[in-house]
Amino acid sequence: MSVDYDAYLDDALHSLHEEGRYRVFTSLARKAGQFPRAINYSGDTSQEIIVWCSNDYLGMGQNQDVMAAMHNAIDEMGTGAGGTRNISGTHHLIVALEEELSNLHKKEAALLFTSGYISNETTLSTLSRLLPDCLILSDALNHASMIEGIKHGGATKLIWRHNDIAHLEQLLSECDTTRPKLIAFESIYSMDGDIAPIAEICALAKKYDAMTYLDEVHAVGMYGEGGGGIADRDNLMQQVDIIEGTLAKAFGMMGGYITGKRNLVDAVRSFGAGFIFTTSLPPAIVAGALESVRQVRANHQLRSQHQARANDLKEKLRAANLPVLITDTHIVPLMVGDASACKAASDRLLTKHHIYIQPINYPTVPRGTERLRITPSPLHDEEMTNALVAALEETWTHLNITRTLPDMAASEGQQAGG
Ligand SMILES: *Cc1c(COP(=O)(O)O)cnc(C)c1O
Repeated sequence: MSVDYDAYLDDALHSLHEEGRYRVFTSLARKAGQFPRAINYSGDTSQEIIVWCSNDYLGMGQNQDVMAAMHNAIDEMGTGAGGTRNISGTHHLIVALEEELSNLHKKEAALLFTSGYISNETTLSTLSRLLPDCLILSDALNHASMIEGIKHGGATKLIWRHNDIAHLEQLLSECDTTRPKLIAFESIYSMDGDIAPIAEICALAKKYDAMTYLDEVHAVGMYGEGGGGIADRDNLMQQVDIIEGTLAKAFGMMGGYITGKRNLVDAVRSFGAGFIFTTSLPPAIVAGALESVRQVRANHQLRSQHQARANDLKEKLRAANLPVLITDTHIVPLMVGDASACKAASDRLLTKHHIYIQPINYPTVPRGTERLRITPSPLHDEEMTNALVAALEETWTHLNITRTLPDMAASEGQQAGG
């Protein structure tokens, strides 16, 4: 007898096809200097398209000074970091970047990771192990990287209903007062574009003696006077114990980080396997990130332009009677409510209109709330916006897609979150 390895793998893939959620990637080459234009290499021929779903929210990925900083770093220091942070991989640019990031969030210290995913996974799993008998109270819609970190740390997890303060308080009030407690949540939730009640959560944390862990990945660079995120905008950075962010979205680079008190950051530095046992980010990436963070911190106008573009698009979609979920953020979800219609809309936009917006289906969002998630940037001009609205209008009519918003509350809870 032999083990049929292929059968196991093929069955798993087959089930994804069956459910209509097998992922097909679009092969793109973004054009530096011409964002949001890109070349699509996915079909038989290559073609110029406009990208409307990038998380390079501010277009920093083509910033001339950032690119120059990266070129210089390669010329001066070569390519790789040469090791883990412990084994000769702590180049001086990393030290400068951590200083910049702790200043950004007005915290004592910062720690750089190879991605935002790793920063969440490592920090939450490490804290779970260091805080004896720890309870982690996790928002139901938390990102996969937080869920994995909580799981790997082995702490007891309590899931509170998304942004539901009353439910969080109920859970906290039932906790043993002597047990360490950590409340983990995000500031902006990337699929619905809604914002957590950070002040209320921090007040509860104080009342019940819990620590707070805030993922600001979709807000850093874009909100607040200095681009420190929603907690910066609302003057709450001091209230939050740990702020986590990415360099890969608004900063247009790669890497993740946490900021907080010195001893906390030192503990994660000293015990976090996902930090210790991997080669550090190379000089070019860190130099680019440092330049990007400095520019974005200083450029409040870029933040205003970003919001203006998003507001303009939301207005135009609403005027065209397209089912846009109105949010207070830069994220513009256009609801479809059906997986195959969502895929068909995305395909038609790409092939007929040369516009790229990937379909968002279950399990990323609950069934019945499938959508196109549109992310306008300061680089999308009015002409592109008008062309997008016209293309969506044509697509919705041609495919006979509903123009009614789904009942979001009714579909909540189906998502694989928390
Ligand atoms: C993208 C994302 C991350 C991971 O960040 P990367 O730097 O891309 O690894 C973490 N949290 C949330 C909410 C995200 O959307």
